Amino acid sequence: MKQVFTIWIFLFATAVTSFSQTEAEKIRQLEIQRQAERQRAMSMKLDSAVALMNQGEYQLSDEKFLTILKSVKSVPSDITFYFGKNSYFLGKYKQSVDWLNKYIQLKGTSGQFSKETLSLKQKAEVELLKEKDLESKQATQVFAQDYDIDCGPSGKVTCPVCNGSTVIIKKGYISNTYKTCSYCQLKGVLSCEDYNKLLKGELKPSSN
Ligand SMILES: [Zn+2]
Repeated sequence: MKQVFTIWIFLFATAVTSFSQTEAEKIRQLEIQRQAERQRAMSMKLDSAVALMNQGEYQLSDEKFLTILKSVKSVPSDITFYFGKNSYFLGKYKQSVDWLNKYIQLKGTSGQFSKETLSLKQKAEVELLKEKDLESKQATQVFAQDYDIDCGPSGKVTCPVCNGSTVIIKKGYISNTYKTCSYCQLKGVLSCEDYNKLLKGELKPSSN
């Protein structure tokens, strides 16, 4: 009787084990299936983004790519190429160079799109340089000190160094020291020419 009981326990244990094994297998299969579905959905999205790009709908394509990028944890190498290419067409050259570089990092020079990537990257870099050149030219224009300030009909401006007092007061610890302003020659005013020189740092103080 005792032996029969032991056998029964053994059979029961075996059944439980095999049951949980098939369950685990089922879950694993489901996970694989789910992954495949995600993969399929993403490659469909990718296809439509690429199609939009090929039709010249760069803005729409860009939006599609961005939704893909938001939804993936790790970006497939093909996307780095396509997104970099579309960015080039959008005139986002910095972004373009960045993603095309990524593709080369991932695939080297022997990838499916490596050749196109390198030539696009070169073009984007040329555009980027042009932009930088333009930016620096604009920056010089904004900060150019070649403009003279119009001092108005009097042609004179209150000396900004001494505020017209002709005296410079240096506050000391015990007493103040007073010095004659060395820019306006005791007049308290500057001619417009001198004023503009002063603004540019070109007006030399007179020694007195
Ligand atoms: Zn002065």
